[in-house]
Amino acid sequence: MRYTSTRDNNVSVSAAQAVVQGISPEGGLYVPEKLPQLTVSEINALTKMDYVGRAAFVLSKFFTEEGPDGWEPEELSRCVKAAYGGTFRDPAVAPVKALGGGGRSYLLELFHGPTCAFKDLALQLLPRLLTASAQKVLQGKEIVILTATSGDTGKAALEGFKDVPGTRIIVFYPSEGVSDLQRLQMVTQEGANVGVVGVEGNFDDTQSGVKSIFTCPSLRAELEARDRVFSSANSINWGRLAPQIVYYVSAYCDLRREGKIAAGEKINFVVPTGNFGNILAAYYAREMGLPVARLICASNRNRILTDFLATGVYDRRRDFYTTLSPSMDILISSNLERLLYAVSGCDAGAVSGWMGALSRDGSYEIPETLLKALQKTFAAGSCNDTQTKGTIRQTYTRLGYLSDTHTAVGLRALEDYRGATGDNAVSVVVSTASPYKFADSVLSAITGGGSALRGFEAIAALEALTGVPCPAPLKSLREKPIRFTELCQPGDMAEFVANEQ
Ligand SMILES: *Cc1c(COP(=O)(O)O)cnc(C)c1O
Repeated sequence: MRYTSTRDNNVSVSAAQAVVQGISPEGGLYVPEKLPQLTVSEINALTKMDYVGRAAFVLSKFFTEEGPDGWEPEELSRCVKAAYGGTFRDPAVAPVKALGGGGRSYLLELFHGPTCAFKDLALQLLPRLLTASAQKVLQGKEIVILTATSGDTGKAALEGFKDVPGTRIIVFYPSEGVSDLQRLQMVTQEGANVGVVGVEGNFDDTQSGVKSIFTCPSLRAELEARDRVFSSANSINWGRLAPQIVYYVSAYCDLRREGKIAAGEKINFVVPTGNFGNILAAYYAREMGLPVARLICASNRNRILTDFLATGVYDRRRDFYTTLSPSMDILISSNLERLLYAVSGCDAGAVSGWMGALSRDGSYEIPETLLKALQKTFAAGSCNDTQTKGTIRQTYTRLGYLSDTHTAVGLRALEDYRGATGDNAVSVVVSTASPYKFADSVLSAITGGGSALRGFEAIAALEALTGVPCPAPLKSLREKPIRFTELCQPGDMAEFVANEQ
């Protein structure tokens, strides 16, 4: 499998190069030149496998090629086993749970990894793909991972890369844009090769800062001279997106195995969305042949994607809100670029034009025909914090399921979608984080706004109230010493990286 760029179809690199570079030099994102297909008999075979087997099979379609950049099936299997073979608290890795509603609604729980959010599914594997790729194409150079986080990526990346030989990692987080527990998870991170910096701005400032460091020729050259190269653990990196395709396939296989759906029956996925990475992986699974009908894009009050999917106009000249679902407080959804490339028939010129307009003018508009094509596959919904809390409360009291604030946005979008369309297809809501990661908000939702408890007190109260146990990695944060206190301005991020020894 070769990879090209969303902004230049003349680009052609191996999987190893795409993973190591993270982003194409002209600013485009790497995409497979041709999406591999999953046949009906392959899906049937996967139904009988465990998560490790499913991941190894699906990913083998993306990591192929011969020669020095090539991947032995054995090598990929080793990476996959190391990532999923014992690091997740649930043996199923990504279990599917029924949610009442007459067998039509399910949750795909992606928070049983070390950091209790779905980012672990990709970031337990990425460091292994990246170091294997570096051996093929980098001749022993050290990799410097730069990551912007809206809260959950940072911790998952730190946990994935800590003490991995040949790598160092710097995580930038928006100092006012993450929950107390998210911050604590990052600033207590162990490992000799890690750095954590708060940026005085929002996630978009932080992400733009990292992107401009990547594409800054003088910084790159400086690093090169020290035998180091930059790479990214953000979902702009193909090595993060590919592992996410697996759990959509896996969820389908689980529903099939348990007889919840018939052979070939199409299902919907509902995905709480920020940077558009997770839902894009669902789109790729669908394009590969997984029987998926609609993809429902769920947003919080920052409803730029809801508006885009309704009007075809992407306009980031709007107020930015901090919400109870901070990992979705995003106005520049980077991975939308890959979707536009796919639906426009690989029109790199058009994509470059739209992305240029976005950074120059803050907006772009896609043609009507393209919008119609998108609306066939995608539905969209959004809700505010009051609705999010109401959904958490109702889902708990009526259905006995304790959801986090991000997942609640998805649950609400499904309810609204069903109400508006009457579409009653089996639908799987992606459950992206443990409720204990956002214990303050979840507790106050369940008690009807009557709680002002924060941090560990909120965790204890939520456990006592619901009997749902808090995952150990969150509980044990209390005892961990704080290691990182640095703050910087968005404009000083490059300097911070240059001074890193
Ligand atoms: C990152 C994140 C999201 C958004 O995922 P994207 O891939 O950025 O769309 C949703 N929920 C949680 C808990 C997250 O950490």
